[in-house]
Amino acid sequence: MSTVEQRTCTQCGAPAEGNLVSCKFCGAELPRVAPPQQPQQQQTAYAYQQPAQPQYAPQANPSGKSKTTAGLLGILLGGVGAHKFYLGRPGMGILYLIFVWTYIPTILGLIEGIIYLTASDEDFYRKYVVK
Ligand SMILES: [Zn+2]
Repeated sequence: MSTVEQRTCTQCGAPAEGNLVSCKFCGAELPRVAPPQQPQQQQTAYAYQQPAQPQYAPQANPSGKSKTTAGLLGILLGGVGAHKFYLGRPGMGILYLIFVWTYIPTILGLIEGIIYLTASDEDFYRKYVVK
């Protein structure tokens, strides 16, 4: 935006150059040239905006529960609910143990083990680890 845009006197119509405050021909007061608009300093807003902290730090997992261990337990010993006991769900673990003869817990454990292993660390700790 240019500050030397051409203005004309409102009284006599003469061109008024530069930043004259009054017409050099008739002496009428000229409208002031508005200073260029300063863009609002929005950077400060970003500067104070910290990225949202995750609820846990995967590298400092407070539960001490490993996604890999839980997954392997589910796949190898899922029929007896080993992964459920490991993840702090003994009730579910006992249920698996009771129904182990149906092979359903074995299949469920296998599926859950794969889910644990393929889940992101975030999903695993949020959904499956009992705090
Ligand atoms: Zn004038």
